[in-house]
Amino acid sequence: MVAIPSSPPTSREVIRTAIVPVTLSGANYRQAHDAHHIAAGLWGEALNWVHAEWKAKHNPSKYDIRAFLTSIPREQRPLHAHTTEAIGYDLYEAIKTSRTNRMNGMRVRSPWRKKNYRPLSFSKSYGWRVRCDHKLNLSLGRGRPGIVLALPNVEDPVTGRLVSPELWGEIQLCWDQDNRQFSLHIPYMSRRMFSAGKAVTAIDEGIINPMALATWLDEQTINVTIVNGREARAIKRQRNKATGALQRKLSKTKNGSRKHRRLVAAKKRTKGKARLQLRDFDHQVARRAANHVIAHSIGRLVIGDARGIEHKTKQKRRMGRSSRQQLSQFSRGTEERYLAEKTGLDIEHINESGSTKTCPVCGARNCPSGRDYRCKVCNFTCHRDAVGAINILQEAIHGDYVPIGADVEIRVTYLRDEKRWSPDQRTTYRKVQCRKAITPSSAKNQAPAETSCKPKLAISSTSSSERVPLVAVA
Ligand SMILES: [Zn+2]
Repeated sequence: MVAIPSSPPTSREVIRTAIVPVTLSGANYRQAHDAHHIAAGLWGEALNWVHAEWKAKHNPSKYDIRAFLTSIPREQRPLHAHTTEAIGYDLYEAIKTSRTNRMNGMRVRSPWRKKNYRPLSFSKSYGWRVRCDHKLNLSLGRGRPGIVLALPNVEDPVTGRLVSPELWGEIQLCWDQDNRQFSLHIPYMSRRMFSAGKAVTAIDEGIINPMALATWLDEQTINVTIVNGREARAIKRQRNKATGALQRKLSKTKNGSRKHRRLVAAKKRTKGKARLQLRDFDHQVARRAANHVIAHSIGRLVIGDARGIEHKTKQKRRMGRSSRQQLSQFSRGTEERYLAEKTGLDIEHINESGSTKTCPVCGARNCPSGRDYRCKVCNFTCHRDAVGAINILQEAIHGDYVPIGADVEIRVTYLRDEKRWSPDQRTTYRKVQCRKAITPSSAKNQAPAETSCKPKLAISSTSSSERVPLVAVA
């Protein structure tokens, strides 16, 4: 394996969206609630119109849909004109996406469903503005009182600085159905580091360890980073148990009764909370993987193809009930999507059958049990997920599971799970970290980040408590 000179990562401008939960006052809450219903009604009317146009063999453009919506009398659409226009643009985008997906061979329908609730868009300086008393005003059109909120703080997680409202774009006011809360989605421009280089990284995905990444460092060394995922399993298990218990109680109540309504709300809250925690977790996994990719100047990302194993687990009946549940809740696709966004690379999928069974040193096939791999032929031992990633790496480079050779050193970095934190706690932690960075004595407290192991020697993969900068935004 020829070592490739590393190239420094490049930084590019990206749009990030901060999701800020907001609490509205009574009058504003009702206003926002009505406006969301009206927006959904306009979506429905535009949808009917588009379907009628299609029947008449016309193909309305983005601007035709907009013209239709703005031709509705002002009294029937008590929203800002830009909010109304945004509904038309969204509908056009949805139609375009369905067409692209159909061209790519997917079986999809054009938009058809009537909505009850639609997010509201507020364009910069027309739809939303900062008032002189430092409140945010979301306009519902001329002559109507707007929705007024306290000006939210938007922090860029890359720089740790507050983003001034002058840099915000079009704001959306959205309703989170499960958590029963409004939130503002605020986009802004930020810079992000992207990987630049030509090296190859292979990724083995799993439920216990969501990602194991393997890269040739030089001709004698392979670097493996294993990202632990026990945290996500704990969140999912807790959610499954809690919703199961609520469901059992629900089955004993009468539909529509007060107790039934309360239990339904409790179930939604449990699910909503877990959803937010899992989104945060998936971002953390992808960020740790992206840090490995950027640090090794990777230009090609290859992942063992596990697509579709989370589907139809019941029909396939391969495993027990609880393993099937774990598998169908595997958030593999989301993490891959986040990783592609964070590294700026396209993801390649290759066949991974037998990758965790084949010995990377002698090529013999073994059946590992537990997390450690031990070869019965050559006595090689290593972490099981590291073996999978190394084999996929060899397949990506040579087209087959070519043995790596006995004198290659495998360095395994094991990233332990991180405590579940609220965004506030994490901000506080970051501030403490920044202060610590100034004190020179903090260097000696840092745990060694990696452990080395030679093949044929027992590997002791100790943990390193590496903290990664969190990306708390979508
Ligand atoms: Zn072997």
